[in-house]
Amino acid sequence: MTEIDIDRDVFVRIRTDLLVVGDSIMTDRHHASNGNYEDNDPQNQIGGIIPAFSLSGWLRHGMEKVVQERDGTACHPGEANANFRKDGVYNRDLDAGYHEKGVCLEDDDDDGCVILDLFGGFGNRPGKFMRRPIQFSPVRSSVDYTRGQAEGHYRRINRNVVSRNEEDNREPLRNAELDAVGNLDGCWHLSFRETKPEFVALLAEAIDFLDEHQTDFMHQLGGARNFGGGIVDCDLVNPLYNETELRRVFDRGKGNTNKMDDKDEKWETEYLPEFQAALAERVEEV
Ligand SMILES: [Zn+2]
Repeated sequence: MTEIDIDRDVFVRIRTDLLVVGDSIMTDRHHASNGNYEDNDPQNQIGGIIPAFSLSGWLRHGMEKVVQERDGTACHPGEANANFRKDGVYNRDLDAGYHEKGVCLEDDDDDGCVILDLFGGFGNRPGKFMRRPIQFSPVRSSVDYTRGQAEGHYRRINRNVVSRNEEDNREPLRNAELDAVGNLDGCWHLSFRETKPEFVALLAEAIDFLDEHQTDFMHQLGGARNFGGGIVDCDLVNPLYNETELRRVFDRGKGNTNKMDDKDEKWETEYLPEFQAALAERVEEV
């Protein structure tokens, strides 16, 4: 095996028309609107931050699927002694491609299965994988893709839930407000604290899987999935690209350079197969 020589920082391109992550989008609304934010004003497009929690869960689920499709089992994300054990959910998951969290650790020096190794969490084990929030801005020229930022804008969506009884004349029952990000296109910045070839392969395969299954309910991102939110186009930006090439990916006026095409070819034919072989070996071990 050749020495792994890709950067510890990798970028995933994420594109979605509508993303709803509950109340956890942080915005700069108070700066932008001087205290007078109007939901309906199309001029009032402001930026903010998408925390990494939802993104991380979405990616982890994709990674678990990749491990399972390779006939392995994935570490269960929850502790065995959590409440859900009572109603059999945990045991049902153990039959469906998961192993009990942490049983893959044979001794203290062991790294466990590839999912545990990456995400950590058992007995205060740190993961080897840092998932950052995505900072988004409606002003394209101020987006720095090399720092894991995205073009996109915050919107507050108001939903009226109306009565279905005819005599009520569609009287509103309640008003729900959702925080959403519209027309998001940008980079999610991920850093490996330690780079292992199987980590990179797992990430690459999970992103492919999530892209292929983007309309499956289980693999959409965040909330509002019943309303078309969270359908995400995603792909791993070639880790061999330098910063200039990374920026070029997001430049609508420009295509790949010949050098980028060469790197794509190299990634597909040399790097990825080698990393995938390492992943196959690692999944087989557990
Ligand atoms: Zn495990």
